[in-house]
This record gives sequence, C-alpha cells and structure tokens, in this order.
Amino acid sequence: MPTSVYMEDLDAFTYQRQLAEGSGIVLIPAGSIEQHGPHMPLNVDVLLSRAMAGSLAEAVGALVAAPIVYGYKSQQRSGGGNHLHGTTSLNAETVISISKTLTLELARHGVRKVAFVNGHYENYQFLFEGVDLALRELRLGGVEDMKVMLLSYWDFVDGATIAELYPDGFPGWDVEHGGVLETSLMLHLHPEKVDVGRIADLPPAQLPNYDVLPVRPELTPGSGCLSSAAQATADKGEILLKRATAAMAAALDHEFLATDPR
Ligand SMILES: [Zn+2]
Repeated sequence: MPTSVYMEDLDAFTYQRQLAEGSGIVLIPAGSIEQHGPHMPLNVDVLLSRAMAGSLAEAVGALVAAPIVYGYKSQQRSGGGNHLHGTTSLNAETVISISKTLTLELARHGVRKVAFVNGHYENYQFLFEGVDLALRELRLGGVEDMKVMLLSYWDFVDGATIAELYPDGFPGWDVEHGGVLETSLMLHLHPEKVDVGRIADLPPAQLPNYDVLPVRPELTPGSGCLSSAAQATADKGEILLKRATAAMAAALDHEFLATDPR
C-alpha cells in the first residue's frame, strides 16, 4: 500500500508504522457543512482544513486523521447564520463530545502529540473544551504526557501577507466568509469546485456589534457571503497555503519537537 499522510488511506499496520517512524504528531482537521455563497460548495471548510493539515503534515512528518465534517452552528456575524439553507450544524455538546472522544481515541493508539487544524471559525471554543475534558480524564488514568494544540489556519497569515493580498483594505477574518481567503485557497486547491461566474461582488456586510436571537435574516446579505470574493485568485491561494503552512509548522515545531519549548 502506498504511503500517505492521510490516516484513512492507510491500513492499520502501516498507520502504526508511520506513527512510530514519523514525528508522532496527528493532525485533526475540523470543518463544517455551511453555505459558502453561490460560488462554492457546502464543504469548503472540510476541504480547506484537510488540505491545510495535509500540507502541514508533509512539513512536520505528521499524519492527518479523518476530518470532523460537521461543525458548530454558523453565526450570523461570522458565517451568515444557522438559518441559511444547506448549513447543517451540531450542538455545542456534540462538538465537545467529538473532540474529547477523538483525543481519547488517539491517546489509546499511543499518540501523545495532537493538533486540531480548524477551518470553521465557530468550532474553536468547543474543540478546546473537549480537549480539556479529555486531558483531565487522561490524567486521572495516569497519562500525563499528552499534549494537544488547537489552531485556526487563518491566524497564521501574517500582516505582511495580508497587506500584499488585500491592497484595497482587509475586511477582517470574521467577515472573510466565502471571501478572498477561502475562494483563493479553493481556486488553488480545488478549482473545479469554484463557479467563478457566480461570485457576488458586493461591499463587506454591515452587521451590528451584537447578536440577536432569533436571528433577523435580513441582516445577512442575500448571497450568504460577508465580503466580496471578486479579488480572489489561485496565485493568492498558493501564497496563503505556503505561508500559513510554514507558520503553523514553526508553531508545531516549537511545541512538539523542540527540546526546550518556552
Ligand atoms: Zn468557511
């Protein structure tokens, strides 16, 4: 069987061998099934977190676990809202349970270095909670050496890259939903899944600085996108992938591989 960084492609014995021979790090991509405007499919966050994790795995000798496909409820101010058609989300307790369970399962395999590579803004705090509960349980069972990192890939795009890729001004990561970042990465990684002719070129959404329940649907632009993807290109996607991968690899290296992390 050919080797792959993707765990689900491997047979169980090759998985075990690659874990032992590599850096021992396992990455868990976390996505969502969420509308991403008229020009991209519902599983953008799954595709991008998995591809980011794959690129990162090659850089640090890690393996990539099968992705978490569904995510926490889309929020109106960062993903358009959970009322939108197609968006299919989990309750917080389910996300917490999934991240806790996967952490415990990998620990059972003997893994001691895990990183969640998040691709859906709303997941983060619930992934964190599940990991915290898993580590408490492991400690009670005598496992003291498990270490878990959580990262959202856009946090590894530096200011210089933002200035270079957003010459007309950066709208902010919260409204980068179906915008330049995700669309550029999709054009680079999965161009056949982007319908460029359907990109809605509209100004960034003007959302209030508070939430209201039930949501007022009229606050979300009709396209479901919170900023324009008109300036997205495959070249920008390649730059984003390379720079985010390098910065994430440095963070993993620092926490997992350096002899004296500080
Ligand atoms: Zn997304």
